[in-house]
Amino acid sequence: MNKSEVLGRWTKAKSEELYGVKNWGNGYFSISNNGEVLVNPYKDNEQAAISLMDIISGIRERGLDMPVLLRFENLLDSQISLLNESFRDAMNKLNYKGDYRGVYPIKVNQQQQVVEEVTKFGQRYHHGLEVGSKAELVAALSLMKDKEACLICNGYKDEEFIDLGLYSVKMGFKCFFVIETLSEVDIVLERSRKLGVKPNIGLRIKLSAKAGGHWTESGGDRSIFGLNMSQVITVVDTLKKENMLDCLKLLHYHLGSQIPNIRDIRSAVLEATRVYAELVKEGAPMGYLDLGGGLAVDYDGSNTNYINSRNYTVEEYCTDIVEAVMTTLDSSGVEHPIIVTESGRTTVAYYSVLLFNVLDVERFEEHNLPDSLDENTPEQIKNLFDVNKSITQKNIQECYNDALYYRDEIRDMFKHGKVSLRERAFSEKIFWNTINQIAKEKQKLKNFPPDLEDIESAIADIYYCNFSVFQSIPDSWAIDQLFPIMPLHRLLELPKRNAVIADITCDCDGKIDHFIDLHDVRTTLPLHELKNGDDYYLGVFIVGAYQETLGDLHNLFGDTNVVSVRIHPDGSYDLVKEIHGDSVADVLTYVEYDPKDMIVSFREKAENAIREGLISASDRKVIMKAYENGLRGYTYYER
Ligand SMILES: *Cc1c(COP(=O)(O)O)cnc(C)c1O
Repeated sequence: MNKSEVLGRWTKAKSEELYGVKNWGNGYFSISNNGEVLVNPYKDNEQAAISLMDIISGIRERGLDMPVLLRFENLLDSQISLLNESFRDAMNKLNYKGDYRGVYPIKVNQQQQVVEEVTKFGQRYHHGLEVGSKAELVAALSLMKDKEACLICNGYKDEEFIDLGLYSVKMGFKCFFVIETLSEVDIVLERSRKLGVKPNIGLRIKLSAKAGGHWTESGGDRSIFGLNMSQVITVVDTLKKENMLDCLKLLHYHLGSQIPNIRDIRSAVLEATRVYAELVKEGAPMGYLDLGGGLAVDYDGSNTNYINSRNYTVEEYCTDIVEAVMTTLDSSGVEHPIIVTESGRTTVAYYSVLLFNVLDVERFEEHNLPDSLDENTPEQIKNLFDVNKSITQKNIQECYNDALYYRDEIRDMFKHGKVSLRERAFSEKIFWNTINQIAKEKQKLKNFPPDLEDIESAIADIYYCNFSVFQSIPDSWAIDQLFPIMPLHRLLELPKRNAVIADITCDCDGKIDHFIDLHDVRTTLPLHELKNGDDYYLGVFIVGAYQETLGDLHNLFGDTNVVSVRIHPDGSYDLVKEIHGDSVADVLTYVEYDPKDMIVSFREKAENAIREGLISASDRKVIMKAYENGLRGYTYYER
């Protein structure tokens, strides 16, 4: 124990434990000796670590406002390497005769910069792309260079889509059409005859294996995508009849995203590999087994089969898959295929961190109560006061019920004019003092009544923050997904306040009141008191997957500023790319306003106001300038 621990002082180690950064950080994030969050794509090379606070001051100096989404190029690079090297190691270790080819599903983060970097960093592994629509195919073809890499086409395909895919085959790309519905077979065959190009055909199947997690609908019998086994046979027969069975080269399934349990992954691989072996027996050349996505991210760092976590590592995922494929195929003498996975979440999740500042805090204040009440106090308020004075560890549930009861009574009396505003205000002080006392007693107990489970969040501070949940972390709102959130500095200080986070939309859903915890879910987040005038910054981590394109324009808060960072092994870094977020005019254009017309129309109003003698001509100039600045500004709170 060092001296400060003896003194009971707060330490870096305590912050690490409290915020779980070592558990979810994947080796990329840690805390510095001066209490700031560090990012380090080189994991073991300590010299390369950079403080996020340094990056923030760099961004501030350049005049960019919060919120900012940081993208760390190296983390993307590093995750692509991890996936490819892990498959390579597993294959070498188990003496697998096939190979691995990863593809990145564009839908997980479609931003041009992201997909471009995937193709750039992925080139040394022939890492390809997966597309699910015409637009994604068009995007992929503009970015792909590597003809060894796979280009997997899922989703509904019309003639235009298929023609474009066939042309890419003609140009030498390894483009596969994955048949999702029976009706697609005929169009693919017809277009390929017309254009004189042989397609590479894959089949997407429905498995009977089911998986736990948010997205379980994608995999099982009832999933809306893919062929059942009798449809598979129909396709095989059609291809045989048309003399095109030699085009059938790939088998695909997708169980769903974020599969937390390795057992579900294994049983799906086993089942699909059996189908693969049977297709080889039917005479199809095959060669590719595409296991879709599902490789999960450990958002809460608990390493369990909880939906926000996973009970396996990337290495275990690869080993289990390779092993399962080998076991099944070796017993039927089928050659080992090229294994393809469509891992999106794991590839890009760590890459992005959302940074924002706290704008304001509504503190939960502890009210002091008098020792006794005035004679004339209404009866119900006296009763509430007695409840307050009678709290012990043993009767907290009872006191809680009584406090709620009397509070409601008092509110009723207020409505009927029997309690004054002043009296009601005083009763609220008693009520919140009571809830606070109950929460304190609860904390001393090992077992407490289930009603009181959430009581801390009722007395939490509200930290108002400069971002929009709907724009930047929509899954937090839509499916209650948890992301690690923590202060970026002051981590050598005890965080004395328990907080929930409210965003700038002022929507009642625009809040975060569930936080990661190793054993459970927390309803409050420990944060530091704001120091007068000092900025206080928080980060939301692991937000690179799915959040950016699902985000919406709730209350017209637009895209945030994005800054791309490249970190060098010696600990220096470059801000390589800066994408300015939406201006007010931008977001208004998305919802069909025309900023030019708006200025004209507002100017007319100002002119009328001059005519009516409300403002002067020089007022008009100032007012118009304010309006135009408003249009040009960032949609978030600017300094
Ligand atoms: C969404 C999707 C993926 C990506 O899954 P992750 O779990 O993010 O890796 C892969 N394949 C298909 C067909 C998908 O729809």
